Amino acid sequence: MIPYGHQDITQIDIDAVTEVLTSEFLTQGPAVPRFEAMVAERVGTAHGVAVNSATSALHIACLALDLGPGDLLWTSPVTFVASANCGRYCGADIDFVDIDPRTYNMSATVLAAKLQEAEANGRLPKIIVPVHLTGQPCDMAAIGALAKRYGVAVVEDASHAIGALDQGTPVGACVHSDITVFSFHPVKIITTAEGGMAMTQNTDLAARMERLRSHGITRDPDLMTHASDGPWYYQQLELGFNYRMTELQAALGCAQMTRLEAFVARRHVIADRYATLLADLPVTLPYQAPGTYSAYHLYVINLQDGTAPHHTVFTRLRAAGIGVNLHYIPVHLQPYYADIGFTPGDFPASETYYAGAISIPMYPGLTEEAQDQVVAALRTALIP
Ligand SMILES: *Cc1c(COP(=O)(O)O)cnc(C)c1O
Repeated sequence: MIPYGHQDITQIDIDAVTEVLTSEFLTQGPAVPRFEAMVAERVGTAHGVAVNSATSALHIACLALDLGPGDLLWTSPVTFVASANCGRYCGADIDFVDIDPRTYNMSATVLAAKLQEAEANGRLPKIIVPVHLTGQPCDMAAIGALAKRYGVAVVEDASHAIGALDQGTPVGACVHSDITVFSFHPVKIITTAEGGMAMTQNTDLAARMERLRSHGITRDPDLMTHASDGPWYYQQLELGFNYRMTELQAALGCAQMTRLEAFVARRHVIADRYATLLADLPVTLPYQAPGTYSAYHLYVINLQDGTAPHHTVFTRLRAAGIGVNLHYIPVHLQPYYADIGFTPGDFPASETYYAGAISIPMYPGLTEEAQDQVVAALRTALIP
């Protein structure tokens, strides 16, 4: 089976991890801050807070922005469930903003109309979570301007988008947001096996997220409610978690970061080759918005009229050994969210997308032979 995504591990990665195993620290050592500084410098932001997953990063990002019961978080329906679940962890309510049918990202036009209506109804969201689907940046200038106008915080879910550029600026620089979150799951652009990072330009938000990832505990005397009892002393100031990243993971992350640009460049070569090889087929290829440089985490095609049914094409590809996938089932259609009150038809552009989307293999190690195999299988699978 040719998978839809795959990690790229070399001897450099193996050496970096094994070196940690024989070092003093397996956790809470120097590799985590080194990895945080490396990512922060690369994307041009002041702070990076490394955690054990992007899901954890989204959770502490919401908490640091004081999201709680009675508040509202908005995200895109076409995303992994974690983009919405982070709000539920905080006891907040969730709503969705439908996608732009061309980019598949949250539509700034729909958002503008929805914010206007929400203001009239006195129910503005506290946080908006735009998701850079497939690695293509959302229209952050427009989303950021709307958020500012209505006093709404923004957390970018950039799980797909480390290495992407928006108008020449790296995603993660938080130009139009409070916090940006990356994922380092093996199928993503770089990996730490499991892992994530929350980027921010705001020192207070960074300090709060650092505390929340480690039980809400501080050793900073300035933050304590009274003078320290002694050198052993620490205080728990709020309810936090153990969301820490290990030294092994951070060392792997540092080694992967040295190849970030090469990974994304290779993904672009594969995308360009797909664009040529698929040009004559009845499928819509990924549209790239002007001024964006995608990280190309995913290569999503959408079936046009006149092909075999979506389900049939998908099943034929899997049977042919092509590990296609579908990113994503709109979140509002999940039973958990249906129980909250969402129904089919609520977000029509997202549902139309879902009816035709297929993620075909895309990862740096995909060979030309394997890519040709994907294209040949697709050509056959599309025949009605
Ligand atoms: C992968 C992913 C997440 C969750 O990342 P983890 O590191 O697995 O927790 C969240 N949002 C999106 C859009 C993702 O693709």
